[in-house]
Amino acid sequence: MTVELICVGTELLLGNTVNTNAAFLSEQCAMLGLSMYYQSVVGDNPGRLEGLLQAAKGRSDIIILSGGLGPTQDDLTKETAAAVMGKKLVEDSKAREGIQQFMAKRGREITENNWKQAMVPEGCKVLYNPNGTAPGIIIEDGDTCMVLLPGPPNELIPMFEEQVYPYLHNLQPEVICSRMVKLCGIGESAAETEILDLIEGQQNPTVAPYAKTGEVHLRITAKAESEDAAYALIGPMEEELQRRFGSLVYTDDPQVTLEMAIAKLLEGRQLTVTTAESCTGGLLAGRLINVPGISSYFKEGHITYSNEAKEKILGVSHDTLERYGAVSAQTAEEMAKGGARAAGADICVAITGIAGPEGGTEEKPVGLVYISCWCKGRILTQKNLYTGSRSKIREYSVASALTLLRQAILEEGNTQDSQ
Ligand code: ATP
Repeated sequence: MTVELICVGTELLLGNTVNTNAAFLSEQCAMLGLSMYYQSVVGDNPGRLEGLLQAAKGRSDIIILSGGLGPTQDDLTKETAAAVMGKKLVEDSKAREGIQQFMAKRGREITENNWKQAMVPEGCKVLYNPNGTAPGIIIEDGDTCMVLLPGPPNELIPMFEEQVYPYLHNLQPEVICSRMVKLCGIGESAAETEILDLIEGQQNPTVAPYAKTGEVHLRITAKAESEDAAYALIGPMEEELQRRFGSLVYTDDPQVTLEMAIAKLLEGRQLTVTTAESCTGGLLAGRLINVPGISSYFKEGHITYSNEAKEKILGVSHDTLERYGAVSAQTAEEMAKGGARAAGADICVAITGIAGPEGGTEEKPVGLVYISCWCKGRILTQKNLYTGSRSKIREYSVASALTLLRQAILEEGNTQDSQ
């Protein structure tokens, strides 16, 4: 079945509102196995909306509209859709009651135009809206089905998930499911080369790499008549990816981030971590603190931007800074060692580099970043050369530091296991 999306709202055309509903609805339709060939944005203009609806009716089985269901004069989606489908508007008593309850609960006065929202096309399915006053609407007519949803995402998303998804799922029994295998410590082209045979021979499931800052995510997608059947197709492909990438895979859960995976490792091995940051100025600590419950494993971090701070807080020797410079493997290592000592932590990750745009030399260009991880007496040090803006260089540095931290924890685990 084909589906088409129309987002209504002049604010979308002007760029005042980012069209997040389109992203959400497209993803949901893909999960439902619906083929989407057209998406449009139209302003609050009934003439242009009508033209678009007529065209959509002629080429798509399902038309999903978002926005323009509100009480004001310029909210004309429902009236226009009803006209195109040849339906009269009638009052729906349950929708009227819903509006009354919603307004009473919030102590707001009902104005005459609120009742406009209780008018629905005759014979339609009304989707009740506990988060707002505009009910959603499904109009069925012969081969075409129109789904009208309120614009605010906090109303649209629950309405879609709870009422529209099951409805569309019944119309289209095939589902699309996907799983994400997330890798760190490998670039996109190297990852793709590793699975070129799988990509070339793919049918169902398919596998596609997505480059993220310092990470590669591999999405496995399968189409089947049920979720269980789709996941049964995904399983062997996922195992194959796990076999090929081994410890570079940090999760297969789309909700799990690299810092969450690291927090789990710290918990499993009962290790504490601290940070010693120069050019990233706390970004690394910020990523770790993204994880709720990290306080058991992360007590403090250090921002040591100047040479003086590196000496004073981390105990980096004056001689090292003089001889090798602040951006050097030697300084990074002393920062990591000194940071762990200062915080009394098992591990310290240190970052020192030139984020630019100024400050680079031929010998030490912008983008040169040293990362060092001290873990219970063992030290791993990495030299990186990044390109891009100051913020990109800092983001990449943090991603590499997290990857190095993960590697150090895994290696520490192996040492412990073999003792
Ligand atoms: P209301 O009942 O609040 O009037 P509505 O269905 O009439 O809802 P609109 O008036 O079109 O919806 O939009 C209301 C608000 O919802 C917008 O100001 C915007 O914040 C948000 N919104 C609308 N469309 C989108 C969209 N496509 N993506 C993200 N947000 C949106």
